[in-house]
Amino acid sequence: MIYCCQEHVELALDVVVDEFETFPKIDQLSEEKKLSTNCEYCQNRAEYVVAN
Ligand SMILES: [Zn+2]
Repeated sequence: MIYCCQEHVELALDVVVDEFETFPKIDQLSEEKKLSTNCEYCQNRAEYVVAN
């Protein structure tokens, strides 16, 4: 699973497609999780979680 911000959601989707060759599932994080989770690619708060 990849946690990512709005800006990096497309990057995360590409990574999952490349790695697992399946179309990823994308979910919005709960408000509570947003506050405690950072994007994998930058220092912003994560908004989404991408999973295969
Ligand atoms: Zn980011």
